[in-house]
Amino acid sequence: MKLREIKLNNFRNYEKLSLEFAQGVNLIVGDNAQGKTNLLEAIIYLGGGKSFRTQKAAELVRLGQEYAELEGTVFSQEREQTLRWLFFPEAKPRQLYRNGAKKKTAGEISGVLQTVLFCPEDLMVLKTGAAARRKMTDSCLCQLRPNYEAALTEYNRILEQKTRILKDRFENPALSQLLPDYNTRLCQVGALLISYRARYYEGLKKAAKSYHSLFSGGAEEFTLEYKTVSTVNDPFAPIPVLTEQLQEHLFTHERAELESAQCLTGPHKDDFDISLSGMSLKAFGSQGQVRTSAISLKLAQRDIMANQTGEIPVLLLDDVLSELDPGRQDFVLNQITEGQVFITCCEPGRFTKLGKTIEIFSGAVIGTQ
Ligand code: ATP
Ligand code: MG
Repeated sequence: MKLREIKLNNFRNYEKLSLEFAQGVNLIVGDNAQGKTNLLEAIIYLGGGKSFRTQKAAELVRLGQEYAELEGTVFSQEREQTLRWLFFPEAKPRQLYRNGAKKKTAGEISGVLQTVLFCPEDLMVLKTGAAARRKMTDSCLCQLRPNYEAALTEYNRILEQKTRILKDRFENPALSQLLPDYNTRLCQVGALLISYRARYYEGLKKAAKSYHSLFSGGAEEFTLEYKTVSTVNDPFAPIPVLTEQLQEHLFTHERAELESAQCLTGPHKDDFDISLSGMSLKAFGSQGQVRTSAISLKLAQRDIMANQTGEIPVLLLDDVLSELDPGRQDFVLNQITEGQVFITCCEPGRFTKLGKTIEIFSGAVIGTQ
């Protein structure tokens, strides 16, 4: 899929913009606070009706204006399509049009313009606690597999109810009788989650490894390891085997769960570890290595989505070049030859051999080449 053109009216700091894009790489260059990330935000909103920076659509409307409008022409699903959004600073419902026809929900345009974004906050995901990494995995898997999303929703619901029972049983001991049923279902659904995750990580690892190798000029060997409940020795095992292994682990932690009133075991504690040439990225990775790994993961994620839908999502790389050495910068700018890519940077003089350079100043394009 390719975004051919975008038109903005009163979006963030853009009063009016009409811009055509290259099929390959679009490099958006400008000083700080000129509107580079705003433009990526507009592209993401166009395709999915959501911003990665705010929940409040009102913030997207240019200050003091009565409405904002976003319009884009996309080539996808073998034809040219238009998407148009209108939204308002006050609590008035937004409007969405696909090829001129009014639509009610963003779900009705899903698949027209899919995006994968790398933003600097993604670097933290690889460095901080497991919760952020689980969230990243879950949000991608939910997009790919509706059955996964259903299982995850059920798992979280049981987990929440079980936690409440563990807490309330101090006052009402009879509640403990409910626990075995909850545990059985938790292990059954948990086994499903592990099975999906194992397959997802397998694909992600393979693709990210080959991107990372190209990116680092073969200097580093990327590996990714799925970490789950310790009694699970093979996450690809059949669901009944996984269920039994989860039950086994739960059994040995039953007492601790009762004492702490917390759900201590299960795939809600899962994580993944990345190593570069045998060194843990989380513990020892340099800034450039973390960045290289995070971008390789995004490229891999895009490949997995493309395999699923037959369309390569648009890749958006916000502020990627800093901290990268010239070889790695060259990879980002000149070697991602598949699909359409948008890259923002504030280093003047950068250009791409694969498309177009767009210079932004104060919410306007001041040059293209
Ligand atoms: P950096 O290189 O620092 O990341 P950037 O070019 O990506 O900069 P953006 O985040 O795109 O910068 O733009 C930020 C600017 O947009 C803010 O400084 C603000 O002035 C302006 N802005 C954001 N929202 C609005 C709005 N609703 N109305 C008017 N201007 C806005
Ligand atoms: Mg920015």
